[in-house]
Amino acid sequence: MINQAFWQEITQIAGEKNTTVVAVSKTKPVAAIQALYTLGHRDFGENYVQELVEKQSLLPDDIRWHYIGHLQTNKVKYIAPFVHLIHAVDSIKLLQEINKQAARYNRVIDVLLQLHIATETSKFGMNQQELDACVCWYQSEKAQVPHIRICGLMGMASFTDEDQQVRTEFRQLRTTFLLLQQGAFSDVDYFTVCSIGMSGDYRLALEEGSTMLRIGSLLFGSR
Ligand SMILES: *Cc1c(COP(=O)(O)O)cnc(C)c1O
Repeated sequence: MINQAFWQEITQIAGEKNTTVVAVSKTKPVAAIQALYTLGHRDFGENYVQELVEKQSLLPDDIRWHYIGHLQTNKVKYIAPFVHLIHAVDSIKLLQEINKQAARYNRVIDVLLQLHIATETSKFGMNQQELDACVCWYQSEKAQVPHIRICGLMGMASFTDEDQQVRTEFRQLRTTFLLLQQGAFSDVDYFTVCSIGMSGDYRLALEEGSTMLRIGSLLFGSR
């Protein structure tokens, strides 16, 4: 049900590289999550709201739940009570809604902004211009949205065998991240996350500065 040998390997690599491994458990049964939990894993990622809410209610409270999918504004309220990190924020409207729902629960919710780096147009995320506009908005409005913390960037590379293409895309995200870290977010110590790398490209992502991997099939088997 789970690949324990790979979990050990990736956990060790992540420890050496100071990287977090988010185990992407979407479509996988609660028992599989429980099995990894028993080994000591605590970070799990889901990308369907209903599935996440259901699993959260059945599993231990100290799991850190990452929402990694495209999030609709009207669904924020379901995950706001417990979500640890929302990875794929791609609009100001969504930031405002997360702030509003976090306030209802007296929480501060950590989020990542999703930068569109792939060549496929189907993947979600902001282009550079939209990201700049979003950061600009946040800088002027941050006193109005105290219940969110922007902690970094997330991205998905193109689905391709061409390593150089993937590397270039990751590098673009990393460069943007570093510019923001030294610029708009230089006054905070929590803008530290680069969420890049999945089962097919995690090695490249680590070489290009990933601080958070999102790995599904290599841990849980193909979907
Ligand atoms: C499913 C998914 C993953 C994990 O994909 P694998 O190839 O199974 O490792 C990572 N990130 C996002 C956003 C996903 O939807």
